[in-house]
Amino acid sequence: MNDCIFCKIINKELPSYTIYEDDILKVFMNINPSTNGHLLLIPKKHLVTILDIDKDFLAHALDVIQTKIYPLLKEKLHCEGLTLSQNNFYGQEVKHFHLHLTPRYKDDMVDYQYNEEVLKNVEDVYKVLVDD
Ligand code: 5GP
Ligand code: ZN
Repeated sequence: MNDCIFCKIINKELPSYTIYEDDILKVFMNINPSTNGHLLLIPKKHLVTILDIDKDFLAHALDVIQTKIYPLLKEKLHCEGLTLSQNNFYGQEVKHFHLHLTPRYKDDMVDYQYNEEVLKNVEDVYKVLVDD
């Protein structure tokens, strides 16, 4: 995709602070981080959402996170945890699949906002989900 900014980052048409890359994926600094060391992990292939991603990619991404990224964040930035998140369709700003790797620190104030007024009863929602 010519106008995809993450494809441009992969092709080096746009710069990025790259932490790790191989033939399958790239991990680089988020330009607008939520915490120190907030990274994005993307496939080198232009894929858009979780519906396009195959199990081999996820297995490889997990291996890279476990063996390279988390140990690096822990050692160099002394993070106390790591939050993985990923938006599909709604809330997805960049339409090239990306996993947010957000190091967590005490008092980082990272929080999800939610609207209690639109929340329904848990059991009612469960019934909608499992009803045939
Ligand atoms: P989304 O909202 O799609 O889950 O997240 C997109 C993320 O990409 C955002 O956190 C944003 O900061 C990051 N981002 C957008 N454009 C660029 C860019 O050109 N370079 C980098 N490194 N990150 C970007
Ligand atoms: Zn792309």
